[in-house]
Amino acid sequence: MKFLHCFCVVDSSLRILWVGGDWDDFALRNGGTSILANDVLATRLTDYITDNATAGTVQQMVAAVIDTQGSLRMDYRCDGPEELRRFRLTIKPMKDGRVIMVHELRDAIRLDPPMGAWSFDPAAQSRKCSVCGLVHAPDGPWIDPTLPGVRHPPLVRYTVCPSCITRIELAIAGILDGAEAGEVGELILKAGFSRT
Ligand SMILES: [Zn+2]
Repeated sequence: MKFLHCFCVVDSSLRILWVGGDWDDFALRNGGTSILANDVLATRLTDYITDNATAGTVQQMVAAVIDTQGSLRMDYRCDGPEELRRFRLTIKPMKDGRVIMVHELRDAIRLDPPMGAWSFDPAAQSRKCSVCGLVHAPDGPWIDPTLPGVRHPPLVRYTVCPSCITRIELAIAGILDGAEAGEVGELILKAGFSRT
């Protein structure tokens, strides 16, 4: 895997001022053919987020970092149908009310067999957490689609699941309270995967 880390600098309105690292590779890997580095400058980060819950969460985290001049760290999943991928996002304050957001790949595990492929549909009944990657069919539990015997819903809309909302709120409360860095609790990596 080529992608190791990428970063972007945003202001308090989430306007993108700079991107760097392996941004293009990151965007292409996540299906973002239209959001290559040259195209995103001066646009807003929230232009690329399809749901209010995720956009609101990012906005809250950036605002807390600007307010407190502390840092936030959050592990998240950004899986593909054939690969479970764990990333760490670190948001650090910069001068003049700006922050730098760094995404680092922590772990990539080949899924055998792969999950079913899925697409985004704003009208989908099933939801997928944009932070931990768990999926939720109507009336079902939040469940990890990489577990054996679980089928990934073919159409999903994105949101933030209740347990991620709680973890992020606690981390934000931590830095607002004066902790040096707000740590969003680590995602549990389920056992039973073979590493590539
Ligand atoms: Zn979640």
